[in-house]
Amino acid sequence: SDKQANLYKKATQEAVDHLVQPWPSAGSIGAEARGMLASGEGVYVHDENGRRLIDGPAGMWCTNVGHRNEVLAETLKEQAMELSYNSPWYTTNEPSAELARRIAEHAPGDLNHVFFTTGGSTAVESALRFAQFYSNVRGLEGKKKIICRDGGYHGSTYLSASLNGSQRSRNWMDFADEMMIRLSCPDPFRRPRDMSLEDFCAGLVTEFADAVREHGPENIAAFVGEPIMASGGVIVPPEGYFKAIRDICSANDILFIVDEVVTAFGRLGHVFASESCFDVVPDIITFAKGVTSGYFPLGGMVVSDRLLDGLRASNHPEAMFAHGLTYSSHPIGCAVALKNLDILEDDLLDYTREITPYFHEKLKALEELELVGEVRGMGLMACIECVADRKSHNPIRLDTEVGVRIDRHCQELGLLVRPLVHMCVMSPPLVITRAQIDSMADILHEGI
Ligand code: PLP
Repeated sequence: SDKQANLYKKATQEAVDHLVQPWPSAGSIGAEARGMLASGEGVYVHDENGRRLIDGPAGMWCTNVGHRNEVLAETLKEQAMELSYNSPWYTTNEPSAELARRIAEHAPGDLNHVFFTTGGSTAVESALRFAQFYSNVRGLEGKKKIICRDGGYHGSTYLSASLNGSQRSRNWMDFADEMMIRLSCPDPFRRPRDMSLEDFCAGLVTEFADAVREHGPENIAAFVGEPIMASGGVIVPPEGYFKAIRDICSANDILFIVDEVVTAFGRLGHVFASESCFDVVPDIITFAKGVTSGYFPLGGMVVSDRLLDGLRASNHPEAMFAHGLTYSSHPIGCAVALKNLDILEDDLLDYTREITPYFHEKLKALEELELVGEVRGMGLMACIECVADRKSHNPIRLDTEVGVRIDRHCQELGLLVRPLVHMCVMSPPLVITRAQIDSMADILHEGI
């Protein structure tokens, strides 16, 4: 209606006048109009003009059970009416205790304790601070460096952002770069064209082992990595890579921290992917996003009993892990996460595994297009990478704006695409049907 249209117009103006959007460029900071979304249902969102779009990136990899889920919406209200907040400093609520138990049951190995945070960045930050605390309490004060990789993305707090792989963003801000040991991106598509996958994997593992030797295990607290680099372009590492670097970490007393902020809670058809898909049992897993399907900001880390037992046995009764958030273990977030987990356990995990081959079959067909260098992915995560030249794999130059134009075309045709330069990243709500996958693939075909 006209009234509604005027409301969106007003909201857009208010945003331009008063909102600072995430990741703004200096030239438009505090003065930006981004597309206004009005509502959502299932895999769809509606824009301010009432146009229905498939939510290709599921928000930010998070709307796993889809939009407008009544059970989750009701749970938010019910928990707010029951207990809307309690201080985690000196009290506990029942939903967080039950959720911790259920997460521990799904987590691999002896990862049996959960610290809840407000999202992914705070989950990764917590894991890094924990790793340093763990070194200090054991009297290993020098053991502080963190191994991370180009192409990774781990958040926007100081330490988590320091892990990020994009040099472009680091050029303009201060980061804890001196703490980081940066290794290569395990991107098979960008390996030298005449190198086998086995040799590529062996090279990455050698680089890892060399870095540990060069910096000294006594100076390295942890490795942090995504099992699949999500924002880096859905980069699936070569087979065996994760297990090999896990072994190096174990042999050198380096904590192996897997950032499952994107991959946990169903995206790859499992609650956690580390063991199910990559055959590794981490020391710490971080999660967020899908844990509440984006209905409430919640994240956390699952920690190995071995580490906690070690701390308790350390004879340092005065040592304190001075780390906690006002909204740790938030009762509303945890109540929503419990219902979200019910939905995943009931049949959504099974459904995701069942629909995954169809999703990849349809998207893979886009490789027939001249612009498409590769379609890759795993579970309900895929990246369509556009190239300037299919022989050299040279990426499309940023200034050609091809990526932006593809996004715009797709949006006009009814598909929301996350703008990632020359890559179309698809991670739809897990409830997507075959017919909706067909529409997504058709729109991408036409848009590209
Ligand atoms: N870790 C990974 C792998 C992510 O993809 C993200 C966000 O996209 C984060 C951490 C940061 O999460 P948040 O934005 O909830 O702080």
